[in-house]
Amino acid sequence: MGFWWRPLGVLAGVMLVALLLWADSGWVAALAFLAGIQAFVMLRRLLQEYRLSRWLESPDEVDPPDATGTWGDIFYRLDKFQRRQRASRSELTSALEQFEHAAQAVPDAMVILNRSDQIEWCNPASRKYMGLDCERDRGQFIRYLLRQAHFLEFLDAADYSQRLVCKSPINREVILSLQLVPFGTAQKLLVARDITDLERVDAMRRDFIANVSHELRTPLTVVGGFVETLADTTDLPAGESRRYFDLMLDHTRRMQHLLDDLLTLSRLESDEHTLKDASINVHELAEALKSDAESLSRGRHTIRLQLDSRAGLKGNLQEVRSALGNLVSNAVRYTPDGGEITLAWREQGEAGVFSVTDTGEGIAPEHIPRLTERFYRVDRSRSRETGGTGLGLAIVKHVLTRHGARLDIQSTPGKGSTFSVVFPAHRVQQPGAPDGGKVIPFPERGQAAG
Ligand code: ADP
Repeated sequence: MGFWWRPLGVLAGVMLVALLLWADSGWVAALAFLAGIQAFVMLRRLLQEYRLSRWLESPDEVDPPDATGTWGDIFYRLDKFQRRQRASRSELTSALEQFEHAAQAVPDAMVILNRSDQIEWCNPASRKYMGLDCERDRGQFIRYLLRQAHFLEFLDAADYSQRLVCKSPINREVILSLQLVPFGTAQKLLVARDITDLERVDAMRRDFIANVSHELRTPLTVVGGFVETLADTTDLPAGESRRYFDLMLDHTRRMQHLLDDLLTLSRLESDEHTLKDASINVHELAEALKSDAESLSRGRHTIRLQLDSRAGLKGNLQEVRSALGNLVSNAVRYTPDGGEITLAWREQGEAGVFSVTDTGEGIAPEHIPRLTERFYRVDRSRSRETGGTGLGLAIVKHVLTRHGARLDIQSTPGKGSTFSVVFPAHRVQQPGAPDGGKVIPFPERGQAAG
């Protein structure tokens, strides 16, 4: 309202003065007065228009013209409008920048497609997983860039509830999970997530279940077969039934060992972050391991101790004993009668090394990197004959990882092997340091880490 009152007031004043002039000095004076006012108004208007156009050329840099009256109102309103525009522009810019940063930080590949499946935008991860380049490929039809048949089917189906699991078109090792999400009027967002690790874990889980089932099936079949025979046959000679019972006992023990080892592994995995440290007297531990080896060997091997260091260890006694016990048991099981087994403890620089050396059958180099995998065996039947489960070295690896230690394997086929556990300096305790590691009775295989 205020915008119009002032010019109307001025107009009314001018008309009043013109009327008074007309009455006093005649119509010529009144007309001359009006012409003068008209000229003044026109000049002023031209000047303000000029100032306005100068300001509008670069409104962000130049201050709005200073004026009063109607022109002042116009400039003020334009300036206010201008400021509002500038504020919302800068809000939009910062929102866009944030979106850009977020899109760059997102580890998943994201591609915006228009209604004809042409690329409108994509983030940097889409280069890593799909080989797309936002600048180069903008406007391209995605079907010409990613041509795998299953991808094209997935794109054409446009079934937003489905996911497509496929290999990355630029790296066959990478497994991607693709999903289409509708958005905007007719646009689609294609999201590709790297699920290689998940797939690997899933494959490991499947293998693991298959292996455990396979390991259990044989002893269960054997025991079941004997039970059936015993149930169906009434007049079995005593010697024969004794043999059946012995075999059933053997297979039952095998299943027991397997379950014990599985439970140990599962306990080690679930206690991942809780390691109860104690001082371990390595000399006492080595003596205990030697006597266990002797009872396992039943005089078939020569077993020696070579203790070159008086240092102790800091760690979980049960777990360390379980790990070293597995190495000792393997040495006895894979060394033919008459062979030698040496348990040694020494310092190497600041590290402590406990090694088990045998003069057994040895291991070909191609098997060595895989020995700590679950159920990996060089010779499956040899392992089974000697009561192996294929999990011993997997348990060793777990325990050592928890202690920051590593396993070194040196082996020559036909000559023998040395399995060395290298404990880091912070686990080695020099004599004189507070000790008191108590050695517990040697546990059954698989029960040690409990
Ligand atoms: P297993 O219960 O079969 O012994 P492990 O995990 O303890 O399982 O060992 C994996 C495989 O490594 C064994 O099946 C065997 O082939 C090989 N192995 C382990 N220790 C020795 C060794 N001292 N000498 C020869 N081969 C060994």
